Amino acid sequence: MKLDPNRRIKRGWMNLKIKSIKNECHDTKTLYFIDADEGGIPFDYIAGQYITFRFDDVSEKPVVRSYTMSSSPRQTEVLAVTVKEVDDPFISRLLVRDTAVDQIYRARGPIGKFVYEPESDEKHLVMIAGGSGVTPFISIMREYMDRLGTEGAPEKMTLLVSYRSKADLILWDDIEQINKHSHCRIVTTLSREDATGEGFWHGRIDSSMISKLLDGNFKGKTFMTCGPEAIMDTAVACAKAHGVEERHIKTESFSS
Ligand SMILES: Cc1cc2nc3c(=O)[nH]c(=O)nc-3n(C[C@H](O)[C@H](O)[C@H](O)COP(=O)(O)OP(=O)(O)OC[C@H]3O[C@@H](n4cnc5c(N)ncnc54)[C@H](O)[C@@H]3O)c2cc1C
Repeated sequence: MKLDPNRRIKRGWMNLKIKSIKNECHDTKTLYFIDADEGGIPFDYIAGQYITFRFDDVSEKPVVRSYTMSSSPRQTEVLAVTVKEVDDPFISRLLVRDTAVDQIYRARGPIGKFVYEPESDEKHLVMIAGGSGVTPFISIMREYMDRLGTEGAPEKMTLLVSYRSKADLILWDDIEQINKHSHCRIVTTLSREDATGEGFWHGRIDSSMISKLLDGNFKGKTFMTCGPEAIMDTAVACAKAHGVEERHIKTESFSS
């Protein structure tokens, strides 16, 4: 991964302040942060990277949790993370239910290599996500959608994302906006609701759905997948079975 030597960095733990909050759906919120001390975003990052928050007062020992930026590095005013409250939640409940504008959190970053790498990746980026696993891909698509085919960017981006039902859609405004760009395609499948009449696909992501997405053509593509293990395993197995080399299959697990 090539890092820009002129990127702005901020070392160690920093204070991030919530500037605004958006309700995405019943269990998910997007939190927009600024640097609590200097305003604006605290550092430059690459779309797909994450930050780690540290909570000192919630338990006997400090607790850390990581969240991928759902904003793109081009959004220089705020840095966004989109948090879904999981079953048996701890920190995700705190971030989704018990937070407010002006609240300050300790965080450090950016971290991670789950990014588009122009020097080694293919020009067609195929992304497969489930639920909150869509966050890195919204950041990546927002980052490159206006400059596809130019130096350092892919030529084409395709995202297949799965949600349970329409009530679980997250980052939907971004998805609709990105889908209007030529050479950007987002297909949304609902696993527990049939809304095919409204343009959604129906069913869980499986190998045949991924093949249908790509019209059976797996050549010249780099695959990235993030979300529940079952979806990631399916995407990896499908790509491998169709002859995609391992170096063109990237995964990001949200389980620590
Ligand atoms: C690289 C990376 C990127 C990620 N990006 C995202 C993202 O963009 N969006 C997103 O939603 N998630 C993301 N995640 C997942 C996120 O980091 C958390 O794992 C997720 O939010 C669930 O955290 P949680 O604390 O609620 O639940 P868990 O991590 O599942 O922890 C719950 C555990 O805490 C225990 N617990 C409950 N209460 C207490 C207590 N009072 N004291 C001590 N222990 C307790 C419970 O028994 C349970 O075992 C990412 C993870 C990684 C690794």
